[in-house]
This record gives sequence, C-alpha cells and structure tokens, in this order.
Amino acid sequence: MLASEATTPSFTSSVTRSLSTRSHYNRSNLTTNHNKLPAEPAFRLEKVAEAEFPTRYGRFRIFGFAGYYDDRVEEAVVLRMGELAADPPPLVRIHSECLTGDVFHSLRCDCRAQLELALTRIGAEGRGLLIYEHQEGRGIGLLNKLRAYELQDAGADTVEANQQLGFQVDLRSYDLPGAILRYFGLSHVRLLSNNPEKVQAVERAGVVVSERIPCLAEALDTTEAYLRTKKDKMGHFIDGL
Ligand SMILES: [Zn+2]
Repeated sequence: MLASEATTPSFTSSVTRSLSTRSHYNRSNLTTNHNKLPAEPAFRLEKVAEAEFPTRYGRFRIFGFAGYYDDRVEEAVVLRMGELAADPPPLVRIHSECLTGDVFHSLRCDCRAQLELALTRIGAEGRGLLIYEHQEGRGIGLLNKLRAYELQDAGADTVEANQQLGFQVDLRSYDLPGAILRYFGLSHVRLLSNNPEKVQAVERAGVVVSERIPCLAEALDTTEAYLRTKKDKMGHFIDGL
C-alpha cells in the first residue's frame, strides 16, 4: 500500500484525472447506448519475462507482466515461490509500488513494513505469490504523491490530500492482479491484506479468498495518523490503534 494511500477504493481503471472520467460511464449506460459511448475497455495480459530470483527471503521466480487496456499499459512484477497448486491455497500479497517506502524506508507509511512481512511469511511457508503493481500513490503517480505529502504537512490527511488534488481516493484498478492470479491458475488464495476492498476486488476477479491474513505493521509515531485514517476512512482492519 502506498503512503498516501488510503481510502475508499473506487476500482476505476483509470489512473489520470483525464482518464478517470471513464469511470463515469457505468456499465448499464454502455449497454443501452452503444452508438455514442466508448466500448468497455478490452484487457489483455502478457507475460514478458521470467527468470530465477534469489533474495534474502529465499529463492523466487520473477515474472514481468504487461496488462494492455485499450488506452494504456500497466506493468506488474510477480515473485513466485514454490508450487502454488497444492493445499492449502497459497499466500498472496498484492502490493502497490511505494518508492518512498519500499526504496527509501520512509516512515510516513507502512508500505515497506508490509512488504517485508509478506515476503518473510511467504519465505517461511516456502510458497506464495507477491504481485507488485507499478502504481505509485494509489494510482495518482509519484510526483502527485509528493504533492499530497505537502498537503498532509499542512494538516490534511491522506484521503483529504488526494481529494484536494482532484483525485478519487483510490484509483487503482484490480484488473491486472486478477488476471495474474488467473494466469497462475489460482482459484483460491490466502490473501495478506488489511484492506476489505482488496478482498472484494480479488473475489470480483473470480478468485475465492479462503482466508484473509492480517499484514499489520507496528504503528510508529510517524505512521499512526496515517494508519488511523486508513482504519477510519477506508475501513482497513487495523487493530491496536
Ligand atoms: Zn508507502
């Protein structure tokens, strides 16, 4: 999850403000007036690469995927450990890129801590899947995430900051991770997430979440307000705040 991440995910398939208008076309409109409204975007998944990937958490296979929409391409990296077909269903973490957290160890958010928890847990079980989405800041992009930080420094919370910038709270689309889960033949997963919307999104993609496993990072002075916003405004399951 991303630092400025927070909120009531809307699951539009659009990442930019201009594209987000697409979300205003609902499906019923599309079916009742095909002459004027654009067709429902087609989506196609392509695996572009696969290789060995040794890490501190164990040996993975690393995959590069491209998801083609009719107007853009989204990318994701997947780390797979072990055989996924056996019982119980494998651990799965769907993680959105957070440069500031994942690379720079930011303590404004809990992204890196959640990433480490997920990889540690997958490594301990010897099997599982990490889907790393190239979608910074819940889809608003890296520089807009930094603009949101500036607004947060002036008193806004992560949800309000996104709204002040003119974005919906969460622009992430889950078409790509859903297609990746199906690519690996997964009908059931144990999902590492605190986000009820993510659970619902996976199930909308046709994959059963047989268990939701909390991915809780310790609250720090620097992350407590952020975590509280995710809990109070986005409904995340975060105990102990
Ligand atoms: Zn983050």
